[in-house]
Amino acid sequence: MFIGAEPNTGWLRTCGVSLDDKGFVLTGPDVADAPPQTLPLQTSVQGVFATGDVHSGSTKRVASAVGEGAAVVAQIHRFLTEARTASQVSPG
Ligand SMILES: Cc1cc2nc3c(=O)[nH]c(=O)nc-3n(C[C@H](O)[C@H](O)[C@H](O)COP(=O)(O)OP(=O)(O)OC[C@H]3O[C@@H](n4cnc5c(N)ncnc54)[C@H](O)[C@@H]3O)c2cc1C
Repeated sequence: MFIGAEPNTGWLRTCGVSLDDKGFVLTGPDVADAPPQTLPLQTSVQGVFATGDVHSGSTKRVASAVGEGAAVVAQIHRFLTEARTASQVSPG
C-alpha cells in the first residue's frame, strides 16, 4: 500500500516554494531559472532547504534522508556565510 509516501506539502505553495507535479519540493538545479550557484538542497525560496523524501527526485530510503540531513548543514552554513558577506559589501 506504501502508506506515508504522499508528500504533505500543499501549504508550501503559499510560501512560494516550488513543487513538482506530484507535490515534491524542487531543489537545486531542478528549480526553474535557478542561478548556477544554487546549492543542491536549496528550494526556490532563499534560505529554505529541503531534505529527505519530501524533495523531488529523492531516493526514498532512510539512509539517504539521514545523509541529506547531515549534508544540508554545510549548505546552510555556506548560505549564511555568503549572505553575511553580501550584506557587508553592499552599501547601506
Ligand atoms: C511503507 C514504507 C516502507 C518503507 N520501507 C523502507 C525500508 O525498508 N528501507 C528504507 O531505507 N526506507 C524505507 N522507506 C522509506 C523511508 O521511510 C523514508 O525514506 C524516510 O522515512 C524518509 O525520512 P524523512 O525524514 O525524509 O521523512 P519522514 O520519515 O516521512 O518524516 C517526515 C515527518 O514529517 C511529519 N510531517 C508531515 N507534515 C508535517 C507538518 N505540516 N508539520 C509537522 N510535521 C509534519 C510527518 O508526520 C513525519 O513524521 C519506506 C517508506 C514507506 C512509506
